[in-house]
Amino acid sequence: MEYLKVKCHWCGNSFHLYNRDMSYEERPPMCPHCLTRMDKTQWERLIDAYFTFAEVNKNFRKYHEDRGEPLFQVELLTEKKYVKPKKIVLDDDFTQQTGAGTSMEEALRVMEKPFADIVRNPVPNRDIADYE
Ligand SMILES: [Zn+2]
Repeated sequence: MEYLKVKCHWCGNSFHLYNRDMSYEERPPMCPHCLTRMDKTQWERLIDAYFTFAEVNKNFRKYHEDRGEPLFQVELLTEKKYVKPKKIVLDDDFTQQTGAGTSMEEALRVMEKPFADIVRNPVPNRDIADYE
């Protein structure tokens, strides 16, 4: 049986929602720790998503039983820490130095050699110092 774990970022605590809670008839749930209530539209979308998701898992089980299809059960996980998206501002020096916004050929010409080498031959987990 599926259930949901919901993290409230107002107070930082979590709570569970079970099948019996997932109904349009119910008012949107409140965080039991700080009494913050979920937005109604988001609550209704969550109900839809929950039942769709739960049905996929149920069908995996059913078709595994009925027709011997491979059995999968899927959990949806979300990163615990919410990071507020920041606007990325490129300053002009950086843009010129790296050739950002130009074609790859041009960009490689403008780039300092160690950067260009990395772009041409990417090697994971290498430090820029390795190329100098
Ligand atoms: Zn809360």
